[in-house]
Amino acid sequence: MSLPALRRRELKPPLRPLSQTSPPSRLNDAPPPKKPFRVILRFPVSPATKAFYRRFYPGTSTAEWNDWRWQMRARIRSLPELSRIFALSEDERQAVERHRGALPVGITPYYASLMGLDDPSEPLRRTHVMTGGEYLKNADEGDDPLGEDHDTVVPGLVHRYPDRVLFLTTGTCSTYCRYCTRARVVGNPGGEYQFSVSQWETALAYLEYHTEVRDVLLSGGDPLTIGDDKLDWLLTRLRAIKHIEFLRIGTKVPMVLPQRISKDFVKMLKKHHPLFMSIHVTHPTELTEEVTEATARLADAGIPLGSQTVVLKGINDDPAVMVPLMQGLLKRRVRPYYLYMCDPISGSAHFRTNVEKGLEIISALRGHTTGYATPIFAIDAPGGGGKIQLAPNAIVGRDGDDLLLRNFEGKTFRYPDPGGTVGR
Ligand code: SF4
Repeated sequence: MSLPALRRRELKPPLRPLSQTSPPSRLNDAPPPKKPFRVILRFPVSPATKAFYRRFYPGTSTAEWNDWRWQMRARIRSLPELSRIFALSEDERQAVERHRGALPVGITPYYASLMGLDDPSEPLRRTHVMTGGEYLKNADEGDDPLGEDHDTVVPGLVHRYPDRVLFLTTGTCSTYCRYCTRARVVGNPGGEYQFSVSQWETALAYLEYHTEVRDVLLSGGDPLTIGDDKLDWLLTRLRAIKHIEFLRIGTKVPMVLPQRISKDFVKMLKKHHPLFMSIHVTHPTELTEEVTEATARLADAGIPLGSQTVVLKGINDDPAVMVPLMQGLLKRRVRPYYLYMCDPISGSAHFRTNVEKGLEIISALRGHTTGYATPIFAIDAPGGGGKIQLAPNAIVGRDGDDLLLRNFEGKTFRYPDPGGTVGR
């Protein structure tokens, strides 16, 4: 079945008009261009990326390359396509051949242009081209390590915390990360987890009834793979619920498909403020000219941008990688927000590192660079315990009424704290 056909099946339009706005007739269709084609698709292309697409996609125009729908259609999704572009190791080849079901290979041509084509150890390639490590499952791992299924109140809606919900909008991503927490959910048309507008309606009905919910995080899959009209329709419906104070979108698209952030798209998003965006970021290699343009457009539209990064073994678990990543994000008006330990998803042992690494990264940031560049370090507790924050311990002890504290250089200082008990 063709990709457009799959997408239509994943997200069918509702059968009848809905209260606030009518859904678009074909929900994944882009609206007709309002300006000349050339102007709409203008977007920077970095020199290395240009060389890549001339080599592997000859005959492709810059306008096509910069059209996010072209990028989605041209995603690298099979062994022959991977082999055409990458010099695959035997391990990668066998792992791809063996794969069935959810979390398939999926890489946008743009994102592939940032990867090491001849080097299986290159960080971005490691996060997106499968290897044999995925098939080694440890006893402490699971398909739903965060217990989201347990807290699912209606299909696609996870209500764990009192005043906020996680709204899973789609099973589609523009690229599939090999360590994905929702590996069980994404990229598997016909599998156990399906998404549709009628399912959205059920979730909206739940939210209308549950007046305690004031914050909705849209995730998936990646909500930015949904067409403009359709996402506009969903945001409008959510905005119409009076007790919902603000909306958040969790996405990796600005890093892997920055061309998606068109001027028309941000104009649409702007209608739904207060709207925040959490961007999944992995490595400084991602911080290209294209990403700079995409984040500038989002920030100019008044959307507060935060980052989320997973600490991954041999990929970014090093202050020499993380410090420039966090500083580079801040420069692009993305506030480093969360640094997570990798969830113990089935087959993730080759990505997981020790908690010490995360603390070491925070120690390298805290006090050594701008406070805004230091994210919260957290573990999302397996079994549904929620996020638990961790930090290097600054409290050394107590000497009478003085609390003894360690600063970023490892020196000890006293703080007068008469009557206090902390550090005793
Ligand atoms: S983009 Fe997000 S949801 Fe999609 S595969 Fe990557 S981590 Fe999972």
